[in-house]
Amino acid sequence: ASTPQYLTGDKAALNAFIDKFDTFLFDCDGVLWSGDHLFDGVPETLELLRSRGKRTIFVTNNSTKSRQEYVKKLNGLGIPSDVEDVFGSAYSSAVYISRILKLPPGKNKVFVIGEAGVETELASEGVPFIGGTDDKFRRDITPADFQGIADGSTLDPEVGAVLCGLDFHINYLKLAHGLHYLRRGARFLATNTDSTLPMHHDLFLGAGSVMIPLANASGQTPLELGKPSQAMMDAVEGKFQLDRSRTCMIGDRLNTDIKFGVEGKLGGTLHVQTGVDKKEAWQKPDAVAVPSYYVDQLSDLRQAV
Ligand code: PLP
Ligand code: CA
Repeated sequence: ASTPQYLTGDKAALNAFIDKFDTFLFDCDGVLWSGDHLFDGVPETLELLRSRGKRTIFVTNNSTKSRQEYVKKLNGLGIPSDVEDVFGSAYSSAVYISRILKLPPGKNKVFVIGEAGVETELASEGVPFIGGTDDKFRRDITPADFQGIADGSTLDPEVGAVLCGLDFHINYLKLAHGLHYLRRGARFLATNTDSTLPMHHDLFLGAGSVMIPLANASGQTPLELGKPSQAMMDAVEGKFQLDRSRTCMIGDRLNTDIKFGVEGKLGGTLHVQTGVDKKEAWQKPDAVAVPSYYVDQLSDLRQAV
């Protein structure tokens, strides 16, 4: 890959960049905000792009929130948006399961390891599920549980897939259920595989780390449905009728966002320095993906004016 072009402070280059695209796909955490802290100048930057006729779509790997909750967050932070502007990994997973995987009748339930966002989106696509936030699974495992799982008497015979996202109530009981559905032939799916979750200027366990015990015990690798999965890109393209050559992915993480855009053969990828990966990451010879452009922060795009 060629060396990324640095756009910060270069008005002509910024205008050429903006003119090159009709659609911008925005990663959220690390680009627009960090947790609940909105970065300076972000609403104004989105307004600038929109005023130039650009379509802005938010593509997040956070499966703990539904699209509707993202809309609430975006609007609350001063970025007007509606549910049609948001594409999250929980929604992406639900669409994949309902429209592509098409589990057979009698085997069409999903065992969820994850939070309410996954449940909301599965429900919106009419996909039946168990697990998730159900209190039944938020407790210690007992000897009777081991027995019931092993002989199958406490397992739901209709489960045909295990979907794993970030679950803040992960425990042995849930993992044991997940493992035994997999051992009985359920499909193994992951909303996303971000190894870490950035919070409070530090890193915690992400969905990709919560899923590891199941992968280890089952010997299987999940099909990932968030960035950088091209299943998600295909779904985004289908929904928004993208012209990939006129679309740019903006993100902070190389192995999710930038890889997503590069493998999706988008017209460009823009890396910001406000999130998990810094430019040193793509300067290494073994970088997982190299962006085509970079800026210090998203609001540098306003220097185009
Ligand atoms: N997963 C979870 C649970 C998160 O909370 C976040 C960030 O808030 C992410 C993934 C990464 O999200 P994004 O793809 O918007 O950076
Ligand atoms: Ca991010």
